[in-house]
Amino acid sequence: MPPEALLVGGFIENLMVELPLSPRSRRLGGAPAALALGALTLGVACKSSPSATVVPVAEPALPPATAAPREAATPFDANRAFTLVEKQVAYGPRPAGSVALGKLREWMIEELKSYGLKVTTQPFTAKTPSKKFPTIRMENVIAELPGKSEDVLLIASHYDTKYMEDEVFVGANDAGSSTAVVLELARVLAAMSPEERGFPHTLQFVFFDGEEAVVEWEGNDNTYGSRHFVEKLQASGQAKRVKAMILLDMIGDADLAIPKEYQSSAWLANILHETGHELGYGAHFPKMTHVIADDHLPFLRAGIPAADLIDFAYGKDEVNFGPGGPDNAYWHTARDTVDKLSPRSLKIVGDTVLRALPKIARVAR
Ligand SMILES: [Zn+2]
Repeated sequence: MPPEALLVGGFIENLMVELPLSPRSRRLGGAPAALALGALTLGVACKSSPSATVVPVAEPALPPATAAPREAATPFDANRAFTLVEKQVAYGPRPAGSVALGKLREWMIEELKSYGLKVTTQPFTAKTPSKKFPTIRMENVIAELPGKSEDVLLIASHYDTKYMEDEVFVGANDAGSSTAVVLELARVLAAMSPEERGFPHTLQFVFFDGEEAVVEWEGNDNTYGSRHFVEKLQASGQAKRVKAMILLDMIGDADLAIPKEYQSSAWLANILHETGHELGYGAHFPKMTHVIADDHLPFLRAGIPAADLIDFAYGKDEVNFGPGGPDNAYWHTARDTVDKLSPRSLKIVGDTVLRALPKIARVAR
């Protein structure tokens, strides 16, 4: 649907607290201009629901960057991660239940095994509100890196792309970018000893199927894979083991800006943001808050700490709408292609997660 059709100032159903919505907004250093337009702007452009919004927070604006950001010295390979995005895009549109997604999944499993990880899958049948696809076979992919402790830190992305009837949607950013970063994080962390990793926790790299709505993001027509994963976790009595869940989504935009996601566990979101700032990436972690419905919500509902790193201002549409036109114009369109992304954005997120993990592990026991 056209972006203006989504101009709705509502809230997601499962929002846990009342939001201090305010028409005030302000421009922050380094943040894309449209982000600073405030609540309505992201109200137009929401993850998968017509209800995401930006909440200006009472934090001081960042001072202008005084030094050029330095590349963090982690083994996260930006170019390798970028090729993992290209690899996914080469499969074409990859909606849940498609042959292309099945092929991608086979490749991902082999890739994860080649890092020395134990890989399992979690197949299930999802009932959808679609007349065309009333049931869809879906399959989560889980790669485990055992630690000295049974406690689990979980790093996740969805790997399906949205089914589009009228567009060739290849999802370079959504969800190619985050899938690539989780794969590269898996490779890097698997190559480290527990001492090098700096924490005893077991790591799980989880790739959710069926995050995208089959028809429209409402009710249960979304987050099929993460909901199924959490149900299984609870049924097996294993939910207590998961001490923190870090979700990545849409983090490849060359113009990267990741506000804090409002529903995310504050301590976890804070560690991730602070780490980004410590690494010299502060301009990409603006001190603003947005509200996004995503795969972290089933974890939060189950009492598992979770945080979503997502840049929901993916491209401006100044061609169609003039200067300062609506942001997130590439989201869920045929224009979500690799030329909009940058390897550096993948590295910013990869480095930040990598450096945040030992700090998260100290809290998450
Ligand atoms: Zn999407």
